[in-house]
Amino acid sequence: MPEVPCLFCRIVARESPAEIEYEDDLAVAFKDIYPKAPTHLLIVPRRHVESVAMLRDEDLGLVGHCFMVAKRLGERKGLAERGYRVNANCGPEGGQVVYHLHFHFLAGRRGG
Ligand code: 5GP
Ligand code: ZN
Repeated sequence: MPEVPCLFCRIVARESPAEIEYEDDLAVAFKDIYPKAPTHLLIVPRRHVESVAMLRDEDLGLVGHCFMVAKRLGERKGLAERGYRVNANCGPEGGQVVYHLHFHFLAGRRGG
């Protein structure tokens, strides 16, 4: 089988290790390896989309789904009241390093 070069595709396929906290048919959420807040998860669609800039109209549901995963994570972790931050970095000047669409879920520190 050919090697999948994308790091997050490999994590989604369980070919690379990650601390997975949530998964369903469309998305996976796992701990960021270099956490920038006490809680730092990455919500990643299973399907490879490079970035926000590469989204197509038909990806609307996928993006909405990722935000619903964020909502579920917030509820599961008892963070709905205190709050959390959900954000996506896009492109070199947006600070994107891994080119597989992902949403950072940050909590436990004011301002994320
Ligand atoms: P970006 O800057 O692309 O929005 O964020 C990429 C994130 O992926 C960074 O916060 C970085 O710490 C995280 N990351 C990079 N490599 C790995 C890895 O191998 N495993 C996990 N779990 N996170 C990673
Ligand atoms: Zn990928």
